[in-house]
Amino acid sequence: MAEKILVVEDELALRETLSYNLIKQGYEAKVAADGVSALEIARGEQPDLIILDVMLPGLDGFEVCRILRREMSAPILMLTARADEIDKVVGLEVGADDYLTKPFSMRELMARVKALLRRTRLIREEMASELEGAAAQAGEERSERRLEFSDLVIDPGRREALRAGKPLPLKPNEYDLLLFLARHHRIALSRELILERVWGWEFGGGTRTVDVHVRWLREKIEADPSQPTRIVTVRSVGYRFEG
Ligand code: CA
Repeated sequence: MAEKILVVEDELALRETLSYNLIKQGYEAKVAADGVSALEIARGEQPDLIILDVMLPGLDGFEVCRILRREMSAPILMLTARADEIDKVVGLEVGADDYLTKPFSMRELMARVKALLRRTRLIREEMASELEGAAAQAGEERSERRLEFSDLVIDPGRREALRAGKPLPLKPNEYDLLLFLARHHRIALSRELILERVWGWEFGGGTRTVDVHVRWLREKIEADPSQPTRIVTVRSVGYRFEG
């Protein structure tokens, strides 16, 4: 079924150009010429995406965005006539997902529309798979792909890590820490974040716990634990998994 896009624009020529091009690209297009009718049509049609001009008579685009954001999750692409940083900041504050400054090419607009819809689809799929996973108990983990970093392999389905094909003797916390680091490889992670995600809020221990476990992990996964290349220390932050 074609994805439904609501175009909110008071300038007739642009409104028609937009809807014409959207339909040509295979989308279903709905139009509104002012803020108040935009709200009505959005509520009635439940579009998959909303293209929203900032400068509208009566209720402006920011106000419309603020109201719709509370009611629906469809991505909102805002259009403005000014290359004004303020507009962009306000737009993002009221919940717009993306921004396009007039004049723009139809090609650029279509690229943004496509990207926003793709993102929504991915989020929906992820949510659906999470729900499925919860229902099937750990189904999500079972379906998760193995993480491979040369001779180090982490298999979430089996809840084990292998080095050179042999299972590593990891304690549950060490495994959880390794999996968390590996899932976020190449990203610097603070000790606080690691502590919260791996040990949880209720855990009373301090961030030293993280350091101790990292040291233990290094003993098991580094070629030379005193010169770590897999779990590297990020000065005054925490750690980064290089894989
Ligand atoms: Ca306008």
